[in-house]
Amino acid sequence: MLDGIVRNCCPICGAPITASSLCQYSLDYKILKSGRMSKRYRKTDCSSMEVWLACCSAQCGAIWEEGDFAWDGRDRFLDMKYTDEQNGTSVREYDY
Ligand SMILES: [Zn+2]
Repeated sequence: MLDGIVRNCCPICGAPITASSLCQYSLDYKILKSGRMSKRYRKTDCSSMEVWLACCSAQCGAIWEEGDFAWDGRDRFLDMKYTDEQNGTSVREYDY
């Protein structure tokens, strides 16, 4: 059982959360007969890095890095970082 709070919005400002799965790919350049790098390249997908990041879509400063959140068994966003706020209700810490 993971210790966290299920979130459906940013705990600081209430905006939607965007979670990003980082993927890995390379741009492969051929070296030409002249020794120069070709202007054309081939994009090679090296598949997922299994790394997730998440941040507030309003960019209020809320950010989750690897280990700060998890997916519960029902694909819900489990916040393990901003756990001081109670019951998943949003708290305004920053004034604009
Ligand atoms: Zn926010």
